Amino acid sequence: MKPAQFDYVVPSTVEAAVEALVAANGEGKVLAGGQSLMPLLNFRMARPTVLVDLNRIEGLSYIEDRGDRIAIGALTRHRELEHSPLIAAKLPVIAAAMRHVAHLAIRNRGTIGGSLSHADPAAELPMLATFYDAEILVQGPSGRRRITPKEFFVDALTNCLEPEEIVVEVAFPILKQDGWAFEEVARRFGDFALASIAVSVLRGPSGLAAARVAVMGVADTPRRLKEAEEELIALELDDRMPDRFSEIVVAQVSPNDDLHASADYRRHLLAQLAKRALQTALAMRG
Ligand code: FAD
Repeated sequence: MKPAQFDYVVPSTVEAAVEALVAANGEGKVLAGGQSLMPLLNFRMARPTVLVDLNRIEGLSYIEDRGDRIAIGALTRHRELEHSPLIAAKLPVIAAAMRHVAHLAIRNRGTIGGSLSHADPAAELPMLATFYDAEILVQGPSGRRRITPKEFFVDALTNCLEPEEIVVEVAFPILKQDGWAFEEVARRFGDFALASIAVSVLRGPSGLAAARVAVMGVADTPRRLKEAEEELIALELDDRMPDRFSEIVVAQVSPNDDLHASADYRRHLLAQLAKRALQTALAMRG
């Protein structure tokens, strides 16, 4: 398959990239790692008249410690997140999740900005942005704005960006936690997830003082389960906690049947993953 004809623009600044998108009048598309966009072009499911390649823009690929948060440039590749000592130390759930993203060749090219913008409901980084309540910084013709994941992920494969806007950075707050886990089931290792959960816990004097829970594969967008977090904190910290947590999580999702799995199967998977994730998180100490 071959893409439909398009003009190819290679700007060296974000401002020039935005200008090219404005000039394209809604018919432009940004190219980052190309791992999702190129198949769409080749199958002619996307037919932009202008392709704006971000890869020559300097300063869009970085992982920076900003004290209470880690800021990641939009062109940072999955593979860099997977192997960054800073990510492993400060955002360990991301480090653990990255090896589940596709295969090495795809992780070498795919970027965080591309993954978030593509907004696949079974992709790891959108779910992790939701889990950490990351701040998504975007730049458009009238400057920069910050967007929450809840606003950003509108529907499956749909984000809230205007056609002239570009994701430039994603900032992840560092969670206070003494245990965490990331669990996922895919049909084959490296496939998109059928179901997945990320959990983080902070112990208090009696029971849990704080908890964070996000899931994917069970809705059209990744979801943070705030009610499940509250219910988990209210539970007694005993051997029954993981089973109870599993029931709480499953009660808060309503997946649909689709080509890949039935709703019942996804619920079943999530129940097992939730239990396992909490057991793992509780077994960690600091
Ligand atoms: P591109 O393909 O370049 O772009 C994707 C979309 O985002 C396009 O619409 C593009 O215009 C837009 N875009 C890109 N960058 C920006 C930006 N900075 N601002 C605004 N819009 C932007 N992903 C997973 O998470 N988990 C998986 O298990 C997984 N499995 C895969 C298996 C295969 C076989 C393949 C081909 C891909 C898989 N992927 C998976 C997707 C992969 O991770 C992609 O790299 C990622 O989704 C898109 O990132 P990209 O940088 O390649 O974006």
